[in-house]
Amino acid sequence: MEKTWKPETLCVQAGWEPKNGEPRVLPIYQSTTFKYDTSEQMARLFDLKDSGYFYTRLQNPTNDAVAAKIAALEGGVAAMLTSSGQAANFFTAFNICEAGDHIVSATSIYGGTFNLFAVTMKKMGVECTFVDQDAPEEEIEKAFRPNTKMMFGETLSNPGVMVLDIEKFARIAHKHGVPLVVDNTFATPINCRPFEWGADIVVHSTTKYMDGHACCVGGCIVDSGNFDWEAHADKFPGLCQPDESYHGLTYTKAFGKLAFITKATSQLMRDLGSIQSPMNAFLLNLGLESLHLRMPQHCKNAQTVAEWLEKNEHVAWVNYPGLKSNPSYALAQKYMPNGSCGVLSFGLKGGRDVAIHFMDSLKLIAIVTHVADARTCILHPASHTHRQLSDEQLREAGIAPDLMRLSVGIENVDDIIADIEQALAK
Ligand SMILES: *Cc1c(COP(=O)(O)O)cnc(C)c1O
Repeated sequence: MEKTWKPETLCVQAGWEPKNGEPRVLPIYQSTTFKYDTSEQMARLFDLKDSGYFYTRLQNPTNDAVAAKIAALEGGVAAMLTSSGQAANFFTAFNICEAGDHIVSATSIYGGTFNLFAVTMKKMGVECTFVDQDAPEEEIEKAFRPNTKMMFGETLSNPGVMVLDIEKFARIAHKHGVPLVVDNTFATPINCRPFEWGADIVVHSTTKYMDGHACCVGGCIVDSGNFDWEAHADKFPGLCQPDESYHGLTYTKAFGKLAFITKATSQLMRDLGSIQSPMNAFLLNLGLESLHLRMPQHCKNAQTVAEWLEKNEHVAWVNYPGLKSNPSYALAQKYMPNGSCGVLSFGLKGGRDVAIHFMDSLKLIAIVTHVADARTCILHPASHTHRQLSDEQLREAGIAPDLMRLSVGIENVDDIIADIEQALAK
C-alpha cells in the first residue's frame, strides 16, 4: 500500500496485497485453525512473541485484510473486526474500563449503545454520565470524575443526525487525561475522519454504509495510536500493568502504538469471542470497494429529499445536517464539507398516528429495522428501535415521538420522492 493513496484507491485496493501467483481477490480463509511444523513455532504465537494465526476466534487473515483497509481509510495504526457494531462499542469500552470506572458519553447516541452504557455496563460496575453534546465545555466538564476513563460520542448521531463537535470533545477528554472514542458509522471515513480532529479511537457498525447492501452485521474498532496510555498509567492498569493472563506481559511496553488492538485481540477476543466470520468479512470488503461511490450518491439524494420535504405542506419539520435551517449545519460544513450521510428524520403534521398511516402507505420505501444501505427504508424509533426507552429518555436522546427516520438509498431520487408524495396524498 502506498502512503500517497487517496481514499478512493484505498477503498478498492488496500488491505489485501497478493504476492506473485496469489489470488487477485481476497480469499475467504474459511478455517478455524492454522497448521505449524513444530510445537515451538506454535508456542511462540501463544506467547505473542511471533505474530501469526492459530485460531479464528482471535484472528483470521481475511478479517485482518479488511481491518487493515478500514484502518488505512481512517488513518489509524491498527484495527480489528467484530461480530457487530455493538460488540465493537463494548470491546472498546471494556478494553479501557473495568469495574469501578466511569464513562462520559454524549446523550444523543444509538439506542443500543445508550442501553449498553446506561444499563448493561452498569451491571458490570462501569457507570456512565450522559451529557448534552452541544452544551458549553465547562458544563460538560462537570460530568468528569477522578475515575472517568473515556469519553464517547457519534460523529453523526443515530437517529438524530446531530453533528458532534469532535475538536471540542477531544479537548475536554484530553484535558482530563482520557481518550475520545468516536462512533463514525454514519459519516464513514469517506465523509469524515475523526482522527484528523483529535479523536483517539474510532468504532463502526460496518452493518451500515460500509457493507452497504444490508447483508452482514459487523463492527470494527480502529486505533489512531495517538493516545499516550503511559502518560496516565495509573488510570489504565489494563494496558500499562502486567497482564497475569499473559505471563505478566505489559501491552504498552511490548507493543507500543499497537497496544490497544493487541490487548483487545489477545485478551477480550480470546475470553469473550465476538469475531466477525471470515465470510462476512469478505462480503464487507466487497461493500467497501464501492463505498466512495455510494456515499456521495446517498448524500445527494438525501439532500434533494430533505429540501423537498421542507417545502411540503404536510411536513411539520425536517432534520438533516445539509439543510441551512439545521442546528448542525455549521458543524456539518466544518467536519463533513462533502456531505454527511443519507439519513434524515422528519415529522408530519398530525403527529404519531399520521406517521404510522403514512409509513403503511409507502410502496418503494420499506419499513425495516435497518438504516444506511442501498435501498431507501424508514423506521419509527418510538415504536421500533427505541421502544425500551421511556418518553423522558426518548426526549433526552433527542427523539420526538413523531420522528420518522428515513434512510435515503441510491435509487433514482425522483422515484423516492414520488413514493413519499403518493403516501402523503393518502
Ligand atoms: C447500528 C449502529 C450500532 C450498532 O451496530 P450493530 O452492527 O447493529 O450491532 C452502533 N452505533 C451506531 C451509530 C449504529 O448506527
